[in-house]
Amino acid sequence: MNDRIRKVVIVGGGTAGWMSAALLRRVLGEPIDIELVESEEIGIVGVGEATIPPIQHVNAVLGLDEAEFLRETKSTIKLAIRFENWRVTGERYYHTFGAPGRSQAFCHFHHFLTRAWQAGDRSSLWDYDLNYLCSEAGKFAKLQARDPLWEMPYAYHFDASLYGQYLRKYSEQRGVTRTEGLVEDVDIDPESGQVRSLRLRGGRVIEGDFFIDCSGIRGLLIHQKLGAGYEDWSHWLPCDRAMAVPSERFEDTLPFTRSIAHSAGWQWRIPLQHRNGNGLVYSSNHYSDEQAADILMNNLESKAIGEPRIIRFRTGRTRKQWHRNVVAVGLSSGFLEPLESTSIYLIQSAVVRLLHLFPHSGVTPELRDEYNRRSQREYELIRDFIIMHYYLNERDDSQFWRDTRNMDVPARLTEKIGLFRANGSLVQDQLDIFLESSWLQVMLGQGITPRDYHPIADSLSEEQLREKLASMKKLKLEPLEQMPSHDRFLEMFCGAKA
Ligand SMILES: Cc1cc2nc3c(=O)[nH]c(=O)nc-3n(C[C@H](O)[C@H](O)[C@H](O)COP(=O)(O)OP(=O)(O)OC[C@H]3O[C@@H](n4cnc5c(N)ncnc54)[C@H](O)[C@@H]3O)c2cc1C
Repeated sequence: MNDRIRKVVIVGGGTAGWMSAALLRRVLGEPIDIELVESEEIGIVGVGEATIPPIQHVNAVLGLDEAEFLRETKSTIKLAIRFENWRVTGERYYHTFGAPGRSQAFCHFHHFLTRAWQAGDRSSLWDYDLNYLCSEAGKFAKLQARDPLWEMPYAYHFDASLYGQYLRKYSEQRGVTRTEGLVEDVDIDPESGQVRSLRLRGGRVIEGDFFIDCSGIRGLLIHQKLGAGYEDWSHWLPCDRAMAVPSERFEDTLPFTRSIAHSAGWQWRIPLQHRNGNGLVYSSNHYSDEQAADILMNNLESKAIGEPRIIRFRTGRTRKQWHRNVVAVGLSSGFLEPLESTSIYLIQSAVVRLLHLFPHSGVTPELRDEYNRRSQREYELIRDFIIMHYYLNERDDSQFWRDTRNMDVPARLTEKIGLFRANGSLVQDQLDIFLESSWLQVMLGQGITPRDYHPIADSLSEEQLREKLASMKKLKLEPLEQMPSHDRFLEMFCGAKA
């Protein structure tokens, strides 16, 4: 029992650091001492403002009050991402968090729709999706769904700095120790190779039994000290820079993120209560930083607040995300571009995985290997989903899009696209955060129409099929009438002032 973990040290106070601290404190309780070291001199990456619905589980575990959370972090509601110019310029589609239509055993709704399309029906998948209908109408309400048909999963857009501060307050109130200081050296036990302590500028030493590296892209412990290795995926995801700039709040806030493709990258627009978050993700082989700045600044909806800031990254993942007595969480564990807002989810998932496999009685190879296996799989599945957006483009206006269309993609992705193209089959891999409805929307949005549909869809007569679709459309529209605008909801629910 000598190896029992009594003290966990977290390096870094960005979203990864404070989310780790809050969840560990909440779940592991008092017996484990938690100390977080961060350096204001270095600061945080300060982007990362769009989330996906599992963030609700974090809030539930922490016992947060949703209205307070929205107020403190200046959040808005996110129902979807709107992809613009991704298949071809001038076209757009949504990836919503909802599920279109209503599926039945063995036969997803889209099989019925495919049959209708083949008979000349002109409706779109999204006409049957409440998240889409609310996004387009700029409306939102927390529905007490009497029927799963009206479930409307949602996430948030929040101010990254305010979110970190909010979780910091939560953690400190519950006994997490915060130490301000710059880590200058890391002491390793020569026998075990495990990290023993950190030395801060000024000489202070912080000891621990287990370390969580939340030091951001630099990966202070996991890369710089332990050399855990990095698997580079930039041949599949060639964007390697981002340029970010906030801008003034733009008119009414809408409950979705915009992702607007340009000739060698894409731009995000994230509405918050007090401002917009904007940025351009681009390939430095195709755009100079000056070109990127021009594109970003000329495509803002409102006046910029300050100058744009460049962030360099290399897409890929840390090979051993748990190495010796260190786990990498957040940007130190890898980087996947924010196209589907998955990084904060990956932080959450890493901490949950660590909590399941927590080495109370000391690190064992079994715990470590299982952790690494699961995190590798999870990263790869998200990677493939993101690659798909690029790979399925039909743009012919730049080499960037022609190259991404013609690249060799991972075999599993080719299989999934092939299955869907053949007869609308969708595959749900274990550990894939993206459910079948996500794959469906992006494949359809990027231009894949199934050649065939499941024979169960033939069980209805043509008349019955027409009626089924018409009544579904009507039912989905029903709750919209009573809903307030998104801004009015925020005002009523948490006192947000436009
Ligand atoms: C352009 C861009 C857009 C993004 N958009 C999204 C999005 O929309 N949705 C999403 O989910 N994710 C997004 N992300 C990812 C998201 O920003 C990160 O996952 C999240 O902010 C976590 O960052 P972090 O805490 O790992 O690192 P950071 O925020 O960089 O924090 C690192 C911490 O380590 C500390 N530190 C570093 N070195 C030392 C040292 N020597 N001594 C002491 N302290 C040290 C720093 O002070 C800081 O506190 C985006 C990322 C980028 C680059």
